[in-house]
Amino acid sequence: MEVARSIAEMRAIVRNWRKADQKVSLVPTMGALHEGHLSLVHMGQDRADKSVVSIFVNPAQFAPHEDFNTYPREEERDFTALRQANVDLVFAPPVEEIYPDNHHTKVEVEGISQLLEGQFRPQFFIGVATVVAKLLIQVMPDVALFGEKDYQQLCVIRAMARDLDLPVDVLGGETIRESDGLAMSSRNAYLTNAERALAPRLYQEITAIADQVSAGADIDKVCAAASKGLSESGFKAIDYIVVKDADTLGDPTPGRPMRVLAAAWLGRTRLIDNIAVPG
Ligand code: AMP
Repeated sequence: MEVARSIAEMRAIVRNWRKADQKVSLVPTMGALHEGHLSLVHMGQDRADKSVVSIFVNPAQFAPHEDFNTYPREEERDFTALRQANVDLVFAPPVEEIYPDNHHTKVEVEGISQLLEGQFRPQFFIGVATVVAKLLIQVMPDVALFGEKDYQQLCVIRAMARDLDLPVDVLGGETIRESDGLAMSSRNAYLTNAERALAPRLYQEITAIADQVSAGADIDKVCAAASKGLSESGFKAIDYIVVKDADTLGDPTPGRPMRVLAAAWLGRTRLIDNIAVPG
């Protein structure tokens, strides 16, 4: 496994693969890797000859009050996991390689970025779209993999790749969960033991909503009941727990696929999760 710290080094390696007509996959991550990330790596390996994983904790997607400084950084452990997964190249640049002092360009996907997460983290998707656009242009992979765990992010990136005519297949991978249902996340490390015990409740509530809505229940009523249930069980604040159109994330319309999406706080940890409403 090769490790590149600069764009030039990384491009030189990928260029040689391309010359040999090899297809390239990219999984962008912020490190602190878990089975969710690795499942995306495997998806990429199934679809391309060479696999690249980027590890970059992107300052542009953190608000000043958020956890950029305390976000878990475990590079050696990550490298070991990626080596075991037969990854060909890790691109792990320092911040100044991605955002030199003269960096002034931002990418904004209007509309969908303002919904849901955008209401609570207004600059978040600008930071995500900007760094993902840069990574896709830097690596120029044939296929790039993103998790459904961050469902709205996947929608934003699909829209961005389409709008900017980026020549890459953007694929979503299913959410990988702990055995009790909690969606794997690097931020789960922040949970205290008591919070960790409570955390699967979020998945239980969105699963219950999906089943009930699928059976014809009133969306507002089941979402209100789930929100109440989460609050009563000890979740500190429910940012949203909603059922939306699975493609536009706008209000659902009869006959179209729907998605349940939720964000809620357990102590100082913000959990997000989502699930399809069975058709
Ligand atoms: P992150 O390191 O949190 O920025 O995530 C990097 C990629 O892994 C993103 O595309 C995430 O959606 C994806 N991801 C994170 N957690 C999971 C999970 N539990 N299952 C599947 N994909 C995930």
